[in-house]
Amino acid sequence: MISKIKERISYLVKVLNQYGYEYYVLDNPTVSDAEYDSLMTELERLESEYPELVLDNSPTKKVGDYLKLELDEVTHEVPMQSLADVFSYDEIYQFDDRIKKILKEEHVDLSRISYTCELKIDGIASSIKYNDGLLVLGATRGNGVVGENITKNVLTIDSLPKIIPNHLSLEVRGEVYMKKEVFNRLNDERLKNNEQLFANPRNATGGSLRQLDANITKSRQLDQFAYVLVNPENYGISSQAEVLSYLASLGFSVNENYRKCKTIEEVIAYIEEYKEKRPNLPYDIDGIVIKFDDLNLYDTIGYTAKTPKWAIAYKFPAEIVTTKLRDIIFTVGRTGIITPNAVMDPVIVSGSTVSRATLNNADFIISRDIRVGDYVNIRKAGDIIPEVVDVDFSRRSDSSVPFKMLEYCPICHSPLVKRENEAEHYCVNDECGGRILEQIIHFASRSTMDIEGLGEKQIEQLYNYGYISNITDIYKLKEYYYDLLSLERIGTKKLDNLFASIEKSKTQTLERFIFGLGIRFVGSKASKILAKKYQTIFDLMNATYDELITLDDIGTVMATSIIDYFNNQQNVDIIYELDALGVKPVNDSSNISNILEGKTFVLTGKLEKFTRDEASQIIESLGGKTSSSVSKKTDYVLAGSDAGSKLAKATQLGVKIITEDEFAEMVK
Ligand code: NAD
Repeated sequence: MISKIKERISYLVKVLNQYGYEYYVLDNPTVSDAEYDSLMTELERLESEYPELVLDNSPTKKVGDYLKLELDEVTHEVPMQSLADVFSYDEIYQFDDRIKKILKEEHVDLSRISYTCELKIDGIASSIKYNDGLLVLGATRGNGVVGENITKNVLTIDSLPKIIPNHLSLEVRGEVYMKKEVFNRLNDERLKNNEQLFANPRNATGGSLRQLDANITKSRQLDQFAYVLVNPENYGISSQAEVLSYLASLGFSVNENYRKCKTIEEVIAYIEEYKEKRPNLPYDIDGIVIKFDDLNLYDTIGYTAKTPKWAIAYKFPAEIVTTKLRDIIFTVGRTGIITPNAVMDPVIVSGSTVSRATLNNADFIISRDIRVGDYVNIRKAGDIIPEVVDVDFSRRSDSSVPFKMLEYCPICHSPLVKRENEAEHYCVNDECGGRILEQIIHFASRSTMDIEGLGEKQIEQLYNYGYISNITDIYKLKEYYYDLLSLERIGTKKLDNLFASIEKSKTQTLERFIFGLGIRFVGSKASKILAKKYQTIFDLMNATYDELITLDDIGTVMATSIIDYFNNQQNVDIIYELDALGVKPVNDSSNISNILEGKTFVLTGKLEKFTRDEASQIIESLGGKTSSSVSKKTDYVLAGSDAGSKLAKATQLGVKIITEDEFAEMVK
């Protein structure tokens, strides 16, 4: 295990240093920022878990830039630090919590907390010094302590003042950048001249600013925004917002979109606003910088070796990111469906780390020619489920092997079946352990029989120990009361609660019972329709195909599946046995609740008590529906932890936001 981690750390250090060199020195990145950031996040995580394995040349220990040897060196009197990156709103709240904690410990009045939010301009950090009112030195950030002398280059930037009022001596820092329009023109010209194109305005800025010939820099029409004044106390300034207005008063170009925010909710609203405005800005931004506003508290809040603790950079989530496909593994569903899943190097997509994605079925993989070892582009469909979009063929290894679908079930090894006109492969062995396990899990879950205390883990445990091998066994578990007490993590109280819950489920509603049986294609909505039509499960058992297809929403496929299900004697036996064990689903019309009729829900964030599927099924079974985006028509946003833009939008539109507990109460 440790040697595997050591290997991974050394690999990450090696590739990140290589990518850093290509980005900082050659201004020619070979991977996207999102891919770089994901690998960096993985390295940071491993290093914090295994501090003894941190390598001396780790990129986490240094401020990014490497120096171009041809340029003279400049030592910064005050180091130029980088910023800690964050990728989710949760991390912004954590940043705020950390600051509050420090200030509380120092007995600082918390009403002094406010943040200045600024656009994170995607350019090159620079330091400009003035002496007696004259621009005398320009330098890059370099490694934070030593940068490169770019004085003659910065003198070519029109928007940077060469003389400032009152013979002032000061050091200003900011971002040199290239407007999108200039960048497009530059690349058009380079294309005509058969020259290599710049990947983006940031890299074009780097390449232009660090030229030995300043005439080339001049032709590139760079710009600069100022946002830092070194030693502001010398100029009677005590807040970041004041710094910005002071710099503007001296003639510096200051980005006017900054905003002072009192709360993190205001910060998030600002981020949401600029996520929308971003495409229409004349320059690239890659995030929002959030700075504690009161400069007098900077030293109290402190610094790490690489970054200040009083500021963070929120990076906009990448919608599509690239990562390496390490493996394809297969799962067996309750209906026998075999789903291939991608196991990938962890990446941050739309704000959260992802290392698994569904590959749907063999046709999906083959039509996209996805192979293990490939670099794949992934995104979150509907902002929730990670999916592989396509392969970056330019990075394919010569030794890669085309995908071949399994022929046998990965659990029971019986031959897989592919039905005509269906893309999926199925394990059709009714005795398959994988299928049975999934069926039991589904039967006991919250959206079906709702047996509390009988979740996935417990069922797996009971199944592995041989206490349950089909759904009827749930109702025979009591026989093993004392055996079960000796099992891991099951105490008397837990066990008593479990049995109470099993008992209660015996009179669960018929619609949930039907759904719980796991008949192919019969979801929560269809179960509800069936329960309305048939008084008992035995009535449904006797239904004919012709009768079934007359029902709303029950088509030929579903009707056939229901008939097939009851034609299987094993299923019929199970239902009779359940009945004999006292499982008598109730079905009077008052039990078919429609309390959510006409209500639209949007689910967002990480849910802990329900899976997303469960929550959606519960909503549907009570007459409501779910949607993937928030609008004025949304009735409720069910928000878990780390909820992002949907939560902000709901707040903006005044849509009711409910927690998981409130939801559980509502649907009880
Ligand atoms: P950073 O870009 O994440 O953030 C710090 C920088 O933000 C500051 O140094 C400053 O230059 C800039 N900035 C812009 N607007 C600002 C504002 N208003 N206030 C303060 N600062 C502002 O950190 P970094 O160390 O400069 O660069 C690391 C990033 O570069 C990585 O996160 C990655 O996205 C990218 N990178 C990409 C590759 C690649 O191969 N694609 C390689 C190396 C680095």
